[in-house]
Amino acid sequence: MHDNWRQRFEESPDVLLGAFNQRTRVPVRDFFVGGEEFITIAGPCSVETESQLMATAHHVRQAGARVLRGGAFKPRSSPYAFQGLGIEGLKLLARAREATGLAVVTEVMSEGDVALVAEHADILQIGSRSMENYALLEAAARSGRPILLKRGMVATIADFLRSAQVILDNGNPWVILCERGIRTFETAMRNTFDAAGIALLKHVTHLPVIADPSHACGYRELVPALARIGAAAGADGLIVEVHPDPDAAWSDGRQSLDFAGFDAMMADLEPWVAVRAQGPGRHRAAERPVLEAVAG
Ligand code: PEP
Ligand code: MN
Repeated sequence: MHDNWRQRFEESPDVLLGAFNQRTRVPVRDFFVGGEEFITIAGPCSVETESQLMATAHHVRQAGARVLRGGAFKPRSSPYAFQGLGIEGLKLLARAREATGLAVVTEVMSEGDVALVAEHADILQIGSRSMENYALLEAAARSGRPILLKRGMVATIADFLRSAQVILDNGNPWVILCERGIRTFETAMRNTFDAAGIALLKHVTHLPVIADPSHACGYRELVPALARIGAAAGADGLIVEVHPDPDAAWSDGRQSLDFAGFDAMMADLEPWVAVRAQGPGRHRAAERPVLEAVAG
């Protein structure tokens, strides 16, 4: 193991925390991701219908979410599975934003869709399967919108940081990193949640880091525990799947919380958010000299 993080991640110099790279707070509407506030992003895996999206948006907002998530363009494991509503989904998301004041994040899958998605969303999501699509990263970066960059399911931390560097290189400083689980030998869960990766990212980068407990495990009964772990590891927020009737969801129902489950998770999380506020990831003044010291 290298103890010199600068050397280890030398291909991504601009993402590293340092004397000239202070913590980034990503501005979204009237709040920041990466500031003092723990930010919850919640909503369905896919935008399905107006009633599904509106009911979810109103519910997660009253339970404390700041951002509504929902896929309009869906990357699916099966080419025969539901691929998303496309532009109709984007319009529904924009309508939900109007109705609730929540910010909106949704995935953009191709360069050609960047302008359209940027017109409807506050944050552009780059999915796990697209993390190394540099042409897409460049186009998304140039939209100027904040980018929620999900870690590739087989990406190392160094790969992940290189993709963040591509966005910064293209003139967009507003990157939010998202740990969403990686593939390992373990098959009992959908992915393996890399909580240590969150701690490492908070230690070496100045970018906000959020956790996705839904895709990380694939089972709704485990989501609250992974959310707690993410907060305790120093994450700046969460992105979590919520659906009014998860068993009837068109995608990722098994890992989606229902409204009561979301409320319980949020209540359960409060003490861990308090721990995070005092944890090592928050000791900003103390952290910088450590990194500078190893930079030698
Ligand atoms: C999603 O957020 O619904 C999604 C497809 O996530 P990922 O890219 O992490 O698989
Ligand atoms: Mn999903």
